[in-house]
Order: sequence, then structure tokens, then C-alpha cells
Amino acid sequence: MNGKRIYNFSPGPGVLPLEVLEKCASEMTNYGDSGMSVMEMSHRSKVYVNIFEEARQKLRDTMGISDKYEVLFLQGGASTQFSMVPLNLMKEGHTADYCITGHFSKNAAKEAEKYGPTNIAFDGAAENYTRIPKQEELKLTPDASYVHICTNNTIYGTTWDYVPKTNGVPLVADMSSNILSVPVNVDDYGLIYAGAQKNMGPAGLTVVIIRRDLMGHALPITPTMLNYETMSKKDSMYNTPTTYAVYVHGLVLDWLKKIGGVAEMEKINRAKAKLVYDALDECKVLIPIANKDSRSLMNVTFKTNDPDLDAKFIKEAAENDLCNLKGHRSVGGMRASLYNAMPIEGCKKLADFIRKFDIENR
Ligand SMILES: *Cc1c(COP(=O)(O)O)cnc(C)c1O
Repeated sequence: MNGKRIYNFSPGPGVLPLEVLEKCASEMTNYGDSGMSVMEMSHRSKVYVNIFEEARQKLRDTMGISDKYEVLFLQGGASTQFSMVPLNLMKEGHTADYCITGHFSKNAAKEAEKYGPTNIAFDGAAENYTRIPKQEELKLTPDASYVHICTNNTIYGTTWDYVPKTNGVPLVADMSSNILSVPVNVDDYGLIYAGAQKNMGPAGLTVVIIRRDLMGHALPITPTMLNYETMSKKDSMYNTPTTYAVYVHGLVLDWLKKIGGVAEMEKINRAKAKLVYDALDECKVLIPIANKDSRSLMNVTFKTNDPDLDAKFIKEAAENDLCNLKGHRSVGGMRASLYNAMPIEGCKKLADFIRKFDIENR
């Protein structure tokens, strides 16, 4: 293997632990003593079903998911959940509440409108999604089918630092870009979903954690493949699941356990993000974008006031092996994604580069 590794600040698919990739490589052509790659196995075979069930159990253990919840390993990305959630959870004659704090929650709300009435409980568009609303600002409907939030806004770099109170209405959360980065109390949610490609493994796998009583009420038009109950009854194997991605997800959970689990991961993530935000807070030319009290641990957004200087930052950073720092086109500037697998050394190196760049370009 050629040993080159850059610091990869990609927003997704994102960096994976080197140890996990090396394990994948070592087992690539012969998993266990099967004489096959995991990619070549029948999803119904004993050896593969074991990999699948172990991965699911490891996720239950890692997140402390009780038996009240089903864990589904699906496909279609988080974006398919934008339709699956309303199709399965909307109740006739009730509205669904959406808190719009960025690009993905806006898309989720837009999709839900196709299936029934929605209420926009908050919309941060006027402030270009630079902050998370306070509880008092949410215009929630008392008898809504559910309340939808996106816990970490990947593009804008903001995070909910509290769980909104919904008065018994099921809370649905898109956790694609911060799942497993800090502990969550699963019981606070009716449904949690996440595309795996930021903190859980490779693209292709979508994880859904759903309270069992919320299944079985899908709208009649719901396609079979988009019905949580079908997937639950068939143990997430109604059709061929994303076999290899689930295997890698299991390895990522082994790695996380070795670190000390999600509680320890949170400490590391806080230290990593602090290095980068502290450097930015000293700058004169580089400006953090998200409001200070809404800052994300996972996606740090910042810019200069000059697009050419932004381009220079991105180019010079890449020359120093600090890669994929370009911000999303709707925000511009830069974005450093500090997912679980980003080593603290990468954050130190980025913080040093930020300071140096700022001084050189005043
Ligand atoms: C990346 C992302 C998505 C989109 O995920 P896909 O798996 O590409 O559909 C949705 N929501 C959030 C918060 C994301 O970060």
C-alpha cells in the first residue's frame, strides 16, 4: 500500500479511521476463513447475517438504544428519509412541524409538503441560517404528527445544543452529520436518522432508529420499500441491503469503543473544535460564520471578505496537506469538517495554518 494520507476535511463522504481502512484491506479478499470478500457474500448467508446483526447490536450498545426502538439499516441516503418520515408518520387531519435551520431541513420540509399539511415552526433563512432558535421561538402545533429538526447543519456549521420540548409530540431528528459525536438520549426522540457517510462509515448505508409504536401507520400510497414496518418485519433485509457498508460501519463502532465510546469521543471532539475556533477568534482577516452560541463541533464555517483570498486560503492549505476546505456554494468561504475520524493532529495543523495565513494576509 502507498502510505500517503492527507488531512481530509471533506463534509461527506468524510474521513474514516485509518485503522478501519487497514482492517478492511487486510480482510478484503478473505473475510475470516470464508475465502471470500464481504462484498461477494450472500446477504442471507450465515457468515454475513452475523456481520449484520453484530453491527446492529454494536450500534445499540454504543448509543444505548433500548428495546422500545427498532434499528433499521436502509439505503437511499438521508434524503430518502425526507419522504419516508412523512409517508410513515403523518396522521390524517394533523400537521407536521418543521424547524428550518439550513439546507437539509428545508429540503425535508419541501418534501413533506407533498404528502400532507406542514407548519414551519421556525425558519432561519432571513439570517442565512447562522443560528439555532431558542425554545420560545418555535411555533409548534400542539397536536402535530411530529416535529422535525436537523441536529447539525452541515453546510452552515450550526448545532442544536438542546433537545426542544415538544409536549409529547414525537421528535424526528436528522443526525446525519453529528450522530455518534456526542452522547444522545435516544428516548428523547421518536425517530433518528442519518446517512452513514459522515460519522458512521461509507456512503450507501442509512441508519434509522424508530420507536416501535410509530411503525404500522404508513399512508396507503407508501411504496413497500419506503415502509418502516416492511423493513422492520424483514429485519432490514426485504431486499439486498448495502452489505459492505454495514460491515465497515461495524468496524467503525469497534474503533469508537476502543477510544472509550461516545462520551470520550465528545471530549475529543470538543478539544478538536476548540483548537480551530480559538484560532479563528484571534484572526482579523478570517471570520467565523456561525453565531458563537450555535457553533457546530463537526463543521466549522469561516471566510474572509474577499472570494479571491478565500481561494488562496484553500489552495495554500491544500499545499500543506489540509484538504477539502472549500465551503458549500450557498455559504462560500471555507468549511472544515472535523468528524470523529479526523485526528486531533489535523486540527492542530489547521489551527496553526489559520493563524499563519491570517497574519500574512493582513
Ligand atoms: C449529508 C446530509 C444529508 C444528505 O445525505 P444523503 O445521504 O446524501 O441523502 C442530509 N442531512 C444532513 C444533515 C446531512 O449532513
